Amino acid sequence: SFVNRLADSALPVAEVVGDPLDRLDAPSPIPQPRDLFAAERINSRGLDLACPLALAELEKGLAKVPPAPSPPDADPEQAMTTAATAFAAWDGLGAPARAALLDKAADALEADRVGLMALAIIEAGKTIPDALAEIREAVDFLRFYAAESRRLFAPHHLPGPVGEANTLSLRGRGVFVCISPWNFPLAIFVGQVAAALAAGNTVVAKPAEQTPLMAARAVRLLHAAGIPKEVLHLVPGGPAIGAALVSHPAVAGVAFTGSTATAKSIQRALAAKDGPIVPLIAETGGINAMIADSSALTEQLLGDVMESAFRSAGQRCSALRLLLIQREAWVKLEPMLVGAMAELVVGDPKDLASDIGPVIDAEAKAMLEAHAERMAGCSRLVAQAPSTSGGLFFAPRVFELADAKRLDTEVFGPILHVVAWESQGLDAVIDTVAASGYGLTLGIHSRIDATIDHIRARLRVGNVYVNRSMIGAVVGSQPFGGQGLSGTGPKAGGPNTLLRYAAETCLSVNT
Ligand code: GLU
Repeated sequence: SFVNRLADSALPVAEVVGDPLDRLDAPSPIPQPRDLFAAERINSRGLDLACPLALAELEKGLAKVPPAPSPPDADPEQAMTTAATAFAAWDGLGAPARAALLDKAADALEADRVGLMALAIIEAGKTIPDALAEIREAVDFLRFYAAESRRLFAPHHLPGPVGEANTLSLRGRGVFVCISPWNFPLAIFVGQVAAALAAGNTVVAKPAEQTPLMAARAVRLLHAAGIPKEVLHLVPGGPAIGAALVSHPAVAGVAFTGSTATAKSIQRALAAKDGPIVPLIAETGGINAMIADSSALTEQLLGDVMESAFRSAGQRCSALRLLLIQREAWVKLEPMLVGAMAELVVGDPKDLASDIGPVIDAEAKAMLEAHAERMAGCSRLVAQAPSTSGGLFFAPRVFELADAKRLDTEVFGPILHVVAWESQGLDAVIDTVAASGYGLTLGIHSRIDATIDHIRARLRVGNVYVNRSMIGAVVGSQPFGGQGLSGTGPKAGGPNTLLRYAAETCLSVNT
């Protein structure tokens, strides 16, 4: 597939072809306001105009470029040592100067948006709207954490008796190891790095094995924007490299997004290490449920279920896995869901008509196929979207289960599980969700306030979405992250994020 065809090709895609939008006579159709709250920043009209042109240009450019050699193997030991040496100067630079560099980096990413989008499509199989959202989120993280560091890192004067001056200030911790996933190869990668850098840490970042090119491109842009090479290191590689980094004596903090099992193994490695107690910021998965009662608006519910379960091929931590729906509502929703599934377009992600692209790799596809086969044996197949079975495409499916307990693990892909509950069954449904131990996202569809409050109060979940889709948290508006098996917090993109990346010092002076 084109995904594999280009995965090994040149890193500097847009350096070769430039930004094709710059060559159009008309001004860029993608508006670029500078606000932090970017939900509406890039609208679909701009997208329709921009992307086919840009991608066609890009494909032409790529055809002329011989494959570049892979990036040289970065040495984890050298990266850690250099980052440790660079820490004092970067921390000493102060938050405003660091924030200025992060803002410049945001500009650089925005200027390179077409190249980055193309890589998101080529390397990660993202659809065009997902690729665009990915770039937007990465840019938002840079600007948001820059602004947050200006706000939080100003010295904070605290009360005390006459003759005593108390000041609380934040500093960096040291070298932060950032380990990011393939499902948001730019946004989460840049989010972790930006938070760590804004807080005064130096960074050694290990992107997912499946998507090193996006990370490499981002790091290049950050370096070009003025973040020193000694301050930010990219060490691509697999689990062995990750393990070497977190076990290194110089590590002062770890930011990790990925599986719960890996988060726990990192926690064990950090605990077993000599030296300081090292904090772990872990963002993991969930068996995310949506609870709908008979008062839900069927059309609205349908749209939100489709979006939450299948957008991004279900490859979001936040995605809906388990729809728990009151029987009367299910009777109305089911035929509409079957119709909507028949309309889903699974195909080439660079075609604007595609709703869903490929899954990330053959291993993911095999896991989904095995799960679907297991489900077929113990549940009812409600609907299956039309899809080519070739390449890395996987046809989205909906299964109806008799009992939610049958789904006891996160299945990372476009498979929705539905369990219908009878009236009086709401509390049992809530108990099932709570019993999973996960707490990332929760959807509620109901028009009864008391029901919404009841569900919300009884579940410990990081992001609760009422009468809307449960994916696509916006930086600065919907800080994202879970509880329990779903992560340690702090949430990404929130007012408390940087505090955990920083160390606090209280200075008390007898004046
Ligand atoms: N922040 C993303 C969302 O709200 C999910 C991030 C993830 O999948 O890790 O959909």
